[in-house]
Amino acid sequence: MNEERLLLQDQAHVWHPYSAIGAGPVFPVVSAAGVRLTLADGRRLIDGMASWWSAIHGYNHPVLNQAVKDQLQDMAHIMFGGLTHAPAVKLADKLVELSPSPLESVFFADSGSVAVEVAMKMAIQYWQALGQRRYRFLTVENGYHGDTFGAMSVCDPVTGMHGLFHGALKEQLFAPPPSPGFDEACDDSHLLVFENLLQEHADEIAAVILEPVVQGAGGMRFYAPGYLSRVRELCNHYQVLLILDEIATGFGRTGKLFACEHAGISPDILCLGKALTGGYMTLAATLTTREISQTISDKPPGVFMHGPTFMANPLACAVANASIELLLNSAWQENVARIQRGLEKGLEPCRRLQGVADVRVLGAIGVVEREEPVDMSSIQPAFVEQGVWVRPFGKLIYLMPPFIIQDADLEHLCRALTEVIARHP
Ligand SMILES: *Cc1c(COP(=O)(O)O)cnc(C)c1O
Repeated sequence: MNEERLLLQDQAHVWHPYSAIGAGPVFPVVSAAGVRLTLADGRRLIDGMASWWSAIHGYNHPVLNQAVKDQLQDMAHIMFGGLTHAPAVKLADKLVELSPSPLESVFFADSGSVAVEVAMKMAIQYWQALGQRRYRFLTVENGYHGDTFGAMSVCDPVTGMHGLFHGALKEQLFAPPPSPGFDEACDDSHLLVFENLLQEHADEIAAVILEPVVQGAGGMRFYAPGYLSRVRELCNHYQVLLILDEIATGFGRTGKLFACEHAGISPDILCLGKALTGGYMTLAATLTTREISQTISDKPPGVFMHGPTFMANPLACAVANASIELLLNSAWQENVARIQRGLEKGLEPCRRLQGVADVRVLGAIGVVEREEPVDMSSIQPAFVEQGVWVRPFGKLIYLMPPFIIQDADLEHLCRALTEVIARHP
């Protein structure tokens, strides 16, 4: 199909994320390798997004390609009810080994949002098994946990989709967003509202759900690990479960393998996704403690009520195993630290630009926050003209490149971002 025809048919029939039908522009990609996307017209773009946090090793990686090919020789998929297979068992084993120690039971889901639904259901079923009806969740504003109904109900009430779906969503409890920044101290005064809500509603709250340290799509904010430690203490004290959503932060993005390591705490339930397969396929996982999985299994109905058709897809599990191995055998910590330095240096000039409210960097995440929302129809093509792929939303222009990005490409990315922001005040 030629490029023109492809774009016409795209416009006629294809819905893109958070878009009106037929709304452009969209750019046709014909291939991707390393940190570069190749457009149909031959232009090559340095990818600043890692396909929404996921392609940590870059594209078309020979080791990951081989893992998919090898698995394909054996089987692409089998149902997971009553059957099992080595890629899934190996992956579960690996995730238990790498994640904080009390997490021992793994449930595979097909996307991050579903992993969050599964986590919420686990919490509800756990309390039910103990004879308690607890159906509500406590979280903080500016969060993002996915697009399905349960997940939407704990997303930020303003930037999330509450306005649109109000009435269709369960009303959850919201504390103000964590105020101390990543390097700042946190004391009890920062959690006054949080603790009050927890205290007042403890017997109806199934769990607290948070993104550890980095609030992603709900505002790209970084907060003090001390806040998280205090949340852990409060959850213990008021006997409420803690769900950590590491779908964006997992697998090294913040400089630790999991962001909860910054606080030295572990959740009762952990959600993983995005970079789990190195960006190759959709796969997510919800991990919990033996205590929770056993309690759910011991009391009637004695089963956990969830089971996606494509649960533990062998191709996805095989590539996840290869991606984790690749990550652990690489100098990822040095790479993320190097990218952090590159982003700090490269985005520094943005601080002096008109209309820029804040510039912040943590690990391999760089954020430029503007005072006003960007005009996507003009800024998106401007990035492409500069040879980079950057996809802002609202007031946020941000970078989270693949970990394999070389310094020269990272400099190009930061320079392009600075120039485009300077020209679109
Ligand atoms: C992306 C994301 C999700 C949702 O994952 P999907 O695979 O898009 O359903 C949930 N939580 C966080 C923190 C995310 O970044």
